[in-house]
Amino acid sequence: MVDPARTEIEADLVVVGGGGAGLAAAAEGARLGLSVIVLEKAAQVGGTTAMSVGSIMAAQSRAQLQAGIADTPADHAKDLDDIRRAYGIEDDPELRRVLTENVAETVAFLRSIGVNFLGPLPQPPHTAPRLHQVMPTSRAYIARLERHCRKLGVDFRVSTRATRLMVEATRVIGVEAESPDGGIAVTARKGTLLASGDIGGNSSLMHAHTTDWVDGIEVYNPMNTGDGQKMAAKAGAKIASRRDMGPAITAHLRFVPPRRSLYHKIPPYPWLTRALVWAMAWLPKWLIRPFAMKFLTTTLGPDQIVYQEGAILVNMEGDRFADELNNPNLLVAAQPAGKAYLVFDDRFAKQFTKWPYFISTAPGVAFAFLGDYRATRPDLFNKGKTINDLAGKVGIDGGRLAAAVAAANEDRTPGKNLTAPPYYALGPVMLYTMVAQVGLAVNTRFEVLNEAGDAIPGLYAAGGAGQGGFTITGHGHGLGWAFTTGRLAARSVAEDR
Ligand SMILES: Cc1cc2nc3c(=O)[nH]c(=O)nc-3n(C[C@H](O)[C@H](O)[C@H](O)COP(=O)(O)OP(=O)(O)OC[C@H]3O[C@@H](n4cnc5c(N)ncnc54)[C@H](O)[C@@H]3O)c2cc1C
Repeated sequence: MVDPARTEIEADLVVVGGGGAGLAAAAEGARLGLSVIVLEKAAQVGGTTAMSVGSIMAAQSRAQLQAGIADTPADHAKDLDDIRRAYGIEDDPELRRVLTENVAETVAFLRSIGVNFLGPLPQPPHTAPRLHQVMPTSRAYIARLERHCRKLGVDFRVSTRATRLMVEATRVIGVEAESPDGGIAVTARKGTLLASGDIGGNSSLMHAHTTDWVDGIEVYNPMNTGDGQKMAAKAGAKIASRRDMGPAITAHLRFVPPRRSLYHKIPPYPWLTRALVWAMAWLPKWLIRPFAMKFLTTTLGPDQIVYQEGAILVNMEGDRFADELNNPNLLVAAQPAGKAYLVFDDRFAKQFTKWPYFISTAPGVAFAFLGDYRATRPDLFNKGKTINDLAGKVGIDGGRLAAAVAAANEDRTPGKNLTAPPYYALGPVMLYTMVAQVGLAVNTRFEVLNEAGDAIPGLYAAGGAGQGGFTITGHGHGLGWAFTTGRLAARSVAEDR
């Protein structure tokens, strides 16, 4: 039945989701002469892309060539293959090839619209420096892409949630959506592109498609509830389940982000970000490091080495709940408020002031030591003359914390005990899902595939929504994948009749 209140609109390309993949697709579609509508569920575009650290791995970018770094897309693909093998994860070599062969062009495109990068920086175990770090933050991607798209005439509809694919015979012909003004039917003359991100915000999809999901994990972007995956599955598409691909790496322990960070307010004007790139490259490290740390300590978590050197994890009640040396992370989600603190003594505090004893690392960019947290994250840094004093400052039970430290000291090898006052608590830390890598099965044209492996006419997917089969291991590939596949999918739509 036709709903008389429903608005009918149409475009050549309809993009569901205004994150990195959706905006890159919209820009490329518009460049190729397509009329484009972007539907975005949130009140503004950006998605997880706007929350990310902002690094992209690329071989043979202009910056790499200028720096005289010998590297090729094939070397990049080989490194990715080695990394995913080390984790025992299955992967699609063709999708990996498409990414590594096209991501340098993506970086060039982003530069052409005013996005500036630091680097290329090294990131072991990658065999060549190929990490490009956006300046000042990943908001720059969104600001520049949105502006570029608007210049090309892209029609943005925010606070508009796609709800159902419209299918005629076997072809997807558009999408139904809910907007603040009521229902909309958006007809896609050439193609519908799902760029609606991952499934991290949908607990039932996470249970169904991943192996290590526990309820209570904080989700960076709760907007990404796998809507694209669900809508497409109803139209016969295959969701590439992580259960078929080996261990999923879905959760990471991170310090809670600060309420406000001045760094995140730096406007991403190209002249300013160019100046920042210059400053980071040429000013002495002692001058530039505190500035870089202000940003990095907003996004990082503790490294394994802190546990090896004696720090313990306690919950908000002061109890130790895990063997820190034996994968404690998933247990954090089950603690009161899902929070925990790293607790250590003065011996540890003095040790974690210089290499190789770092609290956190942003690979390729920097290491953060205890002094960096003291200076840039006073909200995380607690110190007490005694264990009881520390417990009072954190707001946990002093008797239970003292018992937790005493019990830990009995387990420890000599030299790793926590017996030297003053005592410290760094945190809270929480378990976060950054992105849950469960996407729709796609081919190398980013057409969505059905269970039989055939392309569903008119339906495309990119970014997290179209990640089925490609496993992102290591930093800098989620964004590369999102922007690159968005652009390539838009080209496929433009080519198709
Ligand atoms: C803290 C953090 C740091 C990271 N750092 C890096 C990094 O440095 N380098 C890197 O490569 N990767 C990084 N990543 C991963 C990277 O951010 C993602 O892989 C990438 O942004 C995914 O892009 P996307 O376009 O697929 O999804 P998103 O950017 O999330 O876009 C999806 C959009 O779709 C919208 N949407 C969802 N459902 C609907 C619907 N029904 N209708 C309309 N719109 C809808 C969402 O609101 C969202 O705006 C990081 C992730 C996190 C959380």
